[in-house]
Amino acid sequence: MISVNARATTGPRNPFQPLVIERRDLGAHDVLIDIAFAGICHSDIHTARNEWGEALFPLVPGHEIAGTIASVGASVTKFAVGDRAGVGCFVDSCRECENCRKGEEQHCLNKTIWTYNTRDKDGRPTYGGYSQQIVVDENYALRLPASIGLDAAAPLMCAGITMYSPLRRYHTEPGKSVAILGMGGLGHMGVKIAHAMGAEVTVLSQSLSKQADGLRLGADHYFATGDSDTFDKLGRSFDVIVSTLSANVELGPYLDLLKLDGAFVNVGMPEHALEIPPGALVQRRAVVTGSLIGGIAETQEMLDFCAQHGLGSEVEVIGADQIDEAYDRVVNSDVRYRFVIDTATMSA
Ligand code: NAP
Ligand code: ZN
Ligand code: ZN
Repeated sequence: MISVNARATTGPRNPFQPLVIERRDLGAHDVLIDIAFAGICHSDIHTARNEWGEALFPLVPGHEIAGTIASVGASVTKFAVGDRAGVGCFVDSCRECENCRKGEEQHCLNKTIWTYNTRDKDGRPTYGGYSQQIVVDENYALRLPASIGLDAAAPLMCAGITMYSPLRRYHTEPGKSVAILGMGGLGHMGVKIAHAMGAEVTVLSQSLSKQADGLRLGADHYFATGDSDTFDKLGRSFDVIVSTLSANVELGPYLDLLKLDGAFVNVGMPEHALEIPPGALVQRRAVVTGSLIGGIAETQEMLDFCAQHGLGSEVEVIGADQIDEAYDRVVNSDVRYRFVIDTATMSA
């Protein structure tokens, strides 16, 4: 076993504290990654605060992992020591089911092994990226392009792929009008990626406080959903709306913004059920759908796309002792636009 410094929480609302965790010894196809940065995704917060239930404590969150290969198992071919590598939301799956064979490992019909808060194939809990090292099968690690800094690359492993996948699936391209709902960690990557794909991009945020940033990152338009005339002004504008909202809102007014046959893609995971008014569905022939990160091959495609277009995340780098404060700031929409933990600050 390999002992690794980590940060863990022992219960909902308990502060993060140092914890030494054990990583397995390297199997033939495993790599050991020295983690440089770990992003803080809102999903970490939902899990740590038990908003989704079923949290396994002590919990070491973190599924936006960027680092460098420290050692490799005997049969590893994909990586060499010193290569840059990333790990996203899952670290294994059955590899045999229909969905795994299609490259949709996040939808494994047997069991996707999530990077944290799951029991691994050996029955031990998985621990995520708020730690200095991780052991992962080479097939579930990604190649990080050299042109993207490791701090800016870490959030691509969840926020980047979560936006790239539905934007591709719903044909984001020149001539299409795309709205990104929420200008947070996912939202700001959505703006960058949709712009790079050539679409006309609109941000719908609660206020105009982040308007200048939104326009700088590639949005063509920016509206505050709190302004009473925003919804009237926009009319039936959008081919696609991708909602990253972490909290429940009334969906009807947003569905009304779709063109005929437009798609509302929900990627946000608020605590409560979404209520869909039938009128908006019928009148817009709206497609209301969702999307869950992306498979390994598509994640690599996204990383290569980001490298080609010079895209990384806008990050605020924090030390390991600032995780609790960062969580509160994310919940208050006060992050520009992703916190990443510098794991060097976890040394004892
Ligand atoms: P985030 O950085 O906190 O961004 C969420 C945004 O939602 C905020 O910036 C804010 O946008 C908006 N928002 C928050 N509270 C709101 C409220 N009460 N009313 C209206 N808007 C509100 O979070 P994130 O990391 O991007 O994650 C967003 C959601 O996606 C979370 O629920 C997370 O669990 C989920 N998620 C899903 C996937 C997937 O694969 N489907 C992957 C990762 C994350 P403004 O400040 O612009 O108003
Ligand atoms: Zn995430
Ligand atoms: Zn499978």
